This record gives sequence, C-alpha cells and structure tokens, in this order.
Amino acid sequence: MDVQERIKKLRKLIELNSYKYYVEDNPELEDYEYDKLFYELKELEEKNPSLITPDSPTQRVGGISEKFEQVPHSTRLYSLDNSNNEQELKAWYNRVLKDVGETQSSQLSLLGNNYQDIELVSELKIDGLAVSLIYKNGIFTRGLTRGDGVIGEDITNNLKTIKAIPLKLFQEVDIEVRGEIYMPKSSFDKLNQIQIKNNQKTFANPRNAASGSIRQLDPRISANRDLSIFIYSAIIDKKHNIKTHSDAMDFCKKLGFKVNKYKKCASIKEVIKFCSDMEEYRKTLDYATDGVVVKVNSIAKQEELGFTARAPKWATAFKFPPEEVWSTLVGVEFSVGRTGIITPVALINPVNLSGSVVARASMYNFDEIKRLEISLFDEVLIKKAAEIIPKVVRARKTDKSKKIDLPDKCPCCNTPLVELEGEVAIYCPNKEGCPAQIKGRIEYFASKQAMDIDNFGQNLVDKLVERGFIKEISDIYKLTPEILMQIELIKDKASNNIIEGIERSKNTTLSRFINALGIKLVGKESSDILAQNYKTIDELIKAQYEDLASIAGIGEKMAKSIVEYFSNKKNLDIIKELINLGVKINNKYNGIVDLRLKNQSFVITGTLETLSREEAQGKLKELGAKTPNSVSKNTTFVVVGENPGSKATKARDLGITILSEKELLEIIKGGKNE
Ligand code: NAD
Repeated sequence: MDVQERIKKLRKLIELNSYKYYVEDNPELEDYEYDKLFYELKELEEKNPSLITPDSPTQRVGGISEKFEQVPHSTRLYSLDNSNNEQELKAWYNRVLKDVGETQSSQLSLLGNNYQDIELVSELKIDGLAVSLIYKNGIFTRGLTRGDGVIGEDITNNLKTIKAIPLKLFQEVDIEVRGEIYMPKSSFDKLNQIQIKNNQKTFANPRNAASGSIRQLDPRISANRDLSIFIYSAIIDKKHNIKTHSDAMDFCKKLGFKVNKYKKCASIKEVIKFCSDMEEYRKTLDYATDGVVVKVNSIAKQEELGFTARAPKWATAFKFPPEEVWSTLVGVEFSVGRTGIITPVALINPVNLSGSVVARASMYNFDEIKRLEISLFDEVLIKKAAEIIPKVVRARKTDKSKKIDLPDKCPCCNTPLVELEGEVAIYCPNKEGCPAQIKGRIEYFASKQAMDIDNFGQNLVDKLVERGFIKEISDIYKLTPEILMQIELIKDKASNNIIEGIERSKNTTLSRFINALGIKLVGKESSDILAQNYKTIDELIKAQYEDLASIAGIGEKMAKSIVEYFSNKKNLDIIKELINLGVKINNKYNGIVDLRLKNQSFVITGTLETLSREEAQGKLKELGAKTPNSVSKNTTFVVVGENPGSKATKARDLGITILSEKELLEIIKGGKNE
C-alpha cells in the first residue's frame, strides 16, 4: 500500500473510532490501539508534510454530537501532546527552552550546570472529559464540552447538577474556567453494578462513564450519577494581574472552584521525580489518572510559546506506563515449581508494561488456559498481577491460532503428572528425584526472605544440583570450599565468600526457618504468624490440626498442609540434621511479643500523615494483627488516611468500624481499649 493510501485508511479508522469514543462514549478499541494508529499517521505526515490536510485527525481534537446545541468557544480548547518517558520529557523541555529563546546557558542547565531553568508546574492528569465553564458576575451561565475544540456542546443544565461546580462564586467576577469532569472509581463500580442489574450496557472505564453521564439529554440522569470536577486552567481578566498558572489556580480556589494540588518544579529533574512519585500515589486515589501534565508556569512565556494545530507547546502530558498491553503468544513453557506444581508460562513478543520489558507471563494453570480459551499465536492481553508478576488476562484469535498441547508428563523428569483431589493444579509427584523441584526447594531455602544466604543464587544452585553435590536442603551445610571449587569459574576467594554466607545464615529466626522449609501454602506472612504462636520449632512440629486451623491467618488448608509436612519422617530427619549441622533457631517473638491484636484485621486506605503504610502494617503485625490489602466481612477495622480509595466506601457499606490515623496510633500505643 502506498503512503497516500495508508494515510487515507488511517484517517478513516481514526475518525470512526474518535466518533465512537467522543460522541457515542462507546469505544471499540483499547486506548493504546487507537494511539498506535494515531502515532502511525502522525509519523507518516511528519515524513510527508505535503500530505497534511486541515481536516486530518492530527490537526483536530475530539468530536461533537448533534443532540446538543452547538456553541463556539471563546478561545479554542486544545488537547495535549504526550511524553511517554523521561527522554521525551527532557526533549520537550529542551524545545521549550529553545523556543522561549532563553540564553544558551539555560540549555546547558540540562547538562547539570547551575544555570537558570524555567519554572514548571506539575499536576495529575485526570482521566475524564474536558469542559469549559463560563461565569458572568460570579454566576454560572454556560457550560460546554470540549467538542472539536472550536465548537462545544451546551450541557449547562447537566453541569448544574454537579455539586462541585459552584453556581455562584465568592466574588462577582467574569471568568471562564476549564476542567475535567470525572466519576470516582467507587461510584463507577456501583454504577456498573446497577447497569448489570437493569440489564443495561456497562461502561468500559470511569472516563466513559463520566462522559456518558454528563452528555445525557435528560439532566435528571446526570443528577443521579456521582460526578465531580477539577479545574485546571482559567481565562482571567488582565485587571487581576495574574502572571502564572499557579497563581491562576490559587485565584480559582479562592473563587470557590475545586482545584487539585499542583507542584511547582524548578527543573525538569524535579518534574521527573514528581512523575515517578505519582505513579504509586495515584493508585491510592478514588479517581482515575493517566499521567502528569507539565506546564510552563509563566503565562507570558506560555503566550510566547503558543500552540501547534492541536496542543499547546508550553505543556506536555507525561503518560504513565500502561498496566495492560497486548502481545502475541509465541510459545508456552511448562515450568515445574518447588512443590511440583506445573505452571504454564506464556512466552510473548517482548512488550513494555508498567515501565519494564516483559517477555514471559503466567497463565496460572491448565484450567486457566481452557477458561480463557488461549491458543498459541493468539493475541494476548498482559496485565501486572498484584503489580509484580505479569499474567495473561484475555486472548483473541488470529489466523495463525493453534491449540496448545498440554503435557501429561513432567517436562523436567518425564514422570506422569497427577491431579490432586480438590485442587486445580497439576503436579509432578516425583518430589525426591525431579531436578526442577530440588533446585526450586534449595533456591527458596537460600533466598532473601528465607535463610538469606549471600551469594547463593540460581546459577550456583543449578550447578550444585546438576553435579549431584546437593540433593536436600541440609546438604548446603555440608559444602566445603573444596567442593565449591569443583564448579567452573569458582575460585578460592569466591568459594570462601559462599561458605561465609552459609555460616552466617546458621543463626536464624523461627519465622525464617519455617518459611525456608518450603511447606506447601506457607509463605513469609504465615511463617511470621506461626512464629508468634509457637515458641520453638518442636512446639510447631507437635501442633494439632485444630489448634493450627483456629489461628487467624492460617486456616484449614494451610493447617492440613503443615500437619502433613511434619508427619513425614523424612522432613523431620532433615530438620534434625539442619540443627545438628549448626543451624540455631531464635524466636524473636519469645517473651517480648505483645499479641494484643491477635485475631484482628486492619485494612489501611489513603495516605497516613505520620507513618508510611508499610510502617503502620509492620507495627500492627508485631502486635499479632493481620493487615490484608482488601476489605472483606472479616475485616475488623479500616484505617482511613488522606484521599482514601474505594475501600473506605466498602467498609461503610459492610458496617466495618472506621478508624482515623490518630485512633490507630492510640491502639498501637495501647492507649485505647480495642
Ligand atoms: P488526552 O486525554 O490525552 O489529553 C488532553 C486532555 O487532558 C485535555 O483536553 C484535558 O481534558 C485533560 N486533562 C486532564 N487533566 C489535565 C490537567 N491537569 N491539565 C490540563 N489538561 C488536563 O487527549 P484527548 O485528545 O482528550 O484524548 C486522546 C486520548 O483519548 C488518547 O489517549 C486516546 O487513546 C483516547 N482515545 C481513545 C479512542 C478509542 O477508540 N479507544 C478514541 C479516541 C481517543
């Protein structure tokens, strides 16, 4: 296809999908798919400027529906150009410095010299829809959508139903402000539940829900939807003598508008730090954000910089890395875990996900492959699970799709696989002889969260197991420098370092030791709980199923697994051998533990003022409490900090007691009778 034809095709596709997105509030493409088309068109036009036409989507924004009165904007509403990473942010800043015509020296400041930078303002990019609000003598008179940037849709009556939009300002001024209408995430969840109940179409995300709710012909529908707004720009009469964006925002606040926090940044370095801080912080908010907007603070400089056809040159939107991305499934690996579970791992064409390149993703188990109908060469949607391990969450067929052959023998030792009753996982039963399981057990035993043996990583473990020097965890403590030096590339000094690391690990805690044993279902958290409830490993070995199952955070399945583990003579022999080889197990909880909060569970939402969430959770755990991340009917308290998430709403719905930070601190101190 020649360039001209491709451009034509792209424009048609983009226009169609823009219409579905902006006018119908019913997108068919994922945003990143739309962006891909958009960037391809932009790139082709940049390479062939003679083919740019004023009606190209790259020269325009949004779309307008005919169902509302169409009103021209007093001044145009623009979109924003994006910066997808640090380099692009720096490149934007460089262009700003160059365009403003600052001296050569300010450009040098980018290279780390102490020359004057331009002041910037960073603020969260709210993922909603833009509106313009016009006030005459302090009275709200008209509200328009962004529309195509030049003409907007008149939705005044619907906007009047939003409580965060003042109908009368604190001062009788003429002003036009622009802001983003959004729907809180918690209200979005509720709205979709109601839609399902009423057999109506659900909304794809809070942005579409907000847009669909505010662009209703019947304002009563808008009034029933929970919407809010943040104001992010204003056209202010010169007589107020406002010189910067930040002063404009402070002025708007004084007039009674809802303005989000902003941060003045003296350099692009500060902006980059802000963007990275926000990436985590935004997850605690009850509204969707898709990036950080960075603006030149001086209005005079903004005027000097001006606009491109669709965006200001004095601002850029730093987009947060995607948390979901499509790729192609090019292979499946069946990995054997330390407990023998076979996990299908998706091998995908490498993609950037939340800032890191991902080439492998979990598919959990064989049932999940069937449930999601995943085939080889499908397009697969990859998402970060619990923010760490990527997983496949959806699959789409392609022309090349081909059934995945599920193995019936262990890919490592060829033993026929088994299904255990009541479990979805498929196992290799060859515990003693399967090299993958032995390696997994040893690696886990030596890992940071278990015995924490320095310099004892996967490579070394692989070689030691392959050469037959280690068959069981206790064999680690029989290693000598001479044995280690038989492994290629390990010299005198390295072998001594490894032995030193092994020696150091001998002095350990009960909690680490329990975790290191690798008992099925028992991880770091549960090992901690067990160490709080049993003074010594002997006490734990003798523990009865009923006692274990009654401990908060242990439960029946884990209790069964613990009892099973300790009823196996081989396991007891290994523990005895470890102790004989010099492992000393101290219980840091002995005598000093105050388990006042045993059997209680605390969920924290929002930002606490005096301590981080991890610190608060740590203190609570020391007192025996559980600190899960989600609210359920078993939660005892929900601690609500600043900008709480949907957990606070859920707690209220479930009638769970809500605590302030002050009350939490009192409980930790022991001042309040919990
Ligand atoms: P945008 O959303 O990327 O950025 C511009 C908008 O950001 C502004 O108009 C403003 O409303 C908003 N904004 C939020 N907070 C702001 C702040 N603090 N300061 C200034 N502005 C702020 O641009 P856009 O043109 O509205 O939309 C493009 C986006 O829409 C793309 O990401 C694209 O993926 C998506 N889209 C998707 C489809 C689809 O089919 N899925 C179709 C069309 C567009």
